[in-house]
Amino acid sequence: MNYKASRGTRDIFGANALGMSLLEQKSKEIFRKHGFEEVRTPIFEDASLFMRSIGQVTDIVEKEMYIFEDKGGRKLALRPEGTASLARAFVEHRMGVSNPAGKFFYVGEMFRYERPQAGRYRQFHQIGAEFYDSSSPAADAEIIILAQDLLACIGISEIKVHINSLGCQKCRPLFKEALIKYFASVGDLCQDCIRRLDKNPLRVLDCKADSCKFTDAPQMTDYLCDDCSGKFDMVRSLLKSAGCNCVVDGKLVRGLDYYTRTVFEIRSDAVGSQDALAAGGRYDNLVKEIGGQSTPAVGFALGSQRALLAAQNTDFFNNLSSPEKIFVAIADQELFNDAFAFAIKVTRNGLKDNRPLA
Ligand SMILES: [Zn+2]
Ligand SMILES: [Zn+2]
Repeated sequence: MNYKASRGTRDIFGANALGMSLLEQKSKEIFRKHGFEEVRTPIFEDASLFMRSIGQVTDIVEKEMYIFEDKGGRKLALRPEGTASLARAFVEHRMGVSNPAGKFFYVGEMFRYERPQAGRYRQFHQIGAEFYDSSSPAADAEIIILAQDLLACIGISEIKVHINSLGCQKCRPLFKEALIKYFASVGDLCQDCIRRLDKNPLRVLDCKADSCKFTDAPQMTDYLCDDCSGKFDMVRSLLKSAGCNCVVDGKLVRGLDYYTRTVFEIRSDAVGSQDALAAGGRYDNLVKEIGGQSTPAVGFALGSQRALLAAQNTDFFNNLSSPEKIFVAIADQELFNDAFAFAIKVTRNGLKDNRPLA
């Protein structure tokens, strides 16, 4: 029998392994410079952690989680994302006490049962950061700029930052009401949308089958309370003063229930404009929701495979396909020593795998 890697998974070797290693090393360097501390959480967790935090009526929980029962009868899930696991660890270990700066990052594999496509796998790698205990718009801006810096370190600068505010518990209900009324007037929605309409009308907005019908849907930004609206303006003006051009995208809702106020996606035409290279937002209620003290927070995650796919036409990565140029590329980027040692090893053994990245 000939064995092959399971559908939606892949072996990473040659230039791809080198690219991923460099991205992760450079990211860790940037995180540490910004005062973020690494946390490694387990690959699997109690399944209910994700159901509770991400939300029952979401694609991830309804269709995409790898759930299994272990020999002790526990219902476990392979982690589909990093934010819920990190929040669980933050509460369990009272990390707010040991690390009052509240800045953490993670690098690791995530798992979602999705239809495999370019740069999208069922086992995929994410690099993410979470900034706890700050409700300041400056924290939102720092997180977005950080995500942008990570992409820039592998040569990706042609990006668009889409940003929206989902409001708070005070103003979002009014928006939900307006949405439900609006969707009733559109009619002809798919089964998923009809089922979600009452419980989670925001999710209807980014239904892949129906979203093209919603051109004149109500926008959350028109329903924001004074507090949310003031904070949203502040986030945008901070980004602008940092030289980051963002576009307000009223349809951006993200596929997870825990978000409040700021949500964002960083997109690149290099991998199709609909797919984000990095994304995140603010989640002020999640920590309390899973049993901790009320702690506002904001974070992002970057998909390593998608980022490397977008990077494959940049000068930086074209250099990696030629062993002699690796030294130049690495010297230019001042990468970490172990990435350097790794590259020397790859170069000595000859870089045989010159296929396109990702
Ligand atoms: Zn509000
Ligand atoms: Zn639909």
